[in-house]
Amino acid sequence: MKNRIWYDTEFLDTGRAIHLISIGLVCEDGREYYAVNADAPWNAIAQHHWLPDNVVSQLPLAGPIGRAAFTGWASFQIDRKNSAVKPRQVIANETRDLILATPRPRLWANYSAHDHVALTQLWGPLTSAPQGIPWRTNDLQQEIERLEAAGLLDRASLPRQREGEHHALADARHNREVHLYLDRFDALAAWQHATLRLVERIVGDQTALDADATTQIRAALFTASPDFGHEADREADHG
Ligand SMILES: [Mg+2]
Repeated sequence: MKNRIWYDTEFLDTGRAIHLISIGLVCEDGREYYAVNADAPWNAIAQHHWLPDNVVSQLPLAGPIGRAAFTGWASFQIDRKNSAVKPRQVIANETRDLILATPRPRLWANYSAHDHVALTQLWGPLTSAPQGIPWRTNDLQQEIERLEAAGLLDRASLPRQREGEHHALADARHNREVHLYLDRFDALAAWQHATLRLVERIVGDQTALDADATTQIRAALFTASPDFGHEADREADHG
């Protein structure tokens, strides 16, 4: 079932409120969505120490980012003619429709707690979320920790993001790439399990295996074996 939806949000976090700046979603069936919140608190964002250089610089702008000489605050204009720049209510509706077009959707993000709040507050308090919107966002970090604890994954081997870090759609695409990489380690665990059962069977039965049984076991192992040498094929599997 291709029901995973990877997403990322950029936001202003005041310590009391999370204000959505932009959102990117990538569905497992290939649909993508990107929007910039026309109603974001742009003045407060311009005064932030980090957002203008790292997030605003990647948004559609009508001109370069300026700097006030005395305060160092940024000044910029969001390009409201860009079709990705939309009122918050429109983003709420379009995001809802995109998620609900997936049967039994499962939301995924990286360090997902703040993203979940930024997303679901589009519809108001948690209990106002449209029916069918999951009440939680799964965290890729939890998957990474689980696979590390199982001795399957070395975190240093995770795919690195080559471009667009802090652009919500680029980050959502990277979340998908990381998750498809993690998928392979569950395949590895399945293969290890099959191997263990084979060994148990051989140790438990001291009589020689007949040719039929050997062929069957070889076929079973071949089916379960993850193929780490053919990344392109794996990608194709995930379509
Ligand atoms: Mg991001």
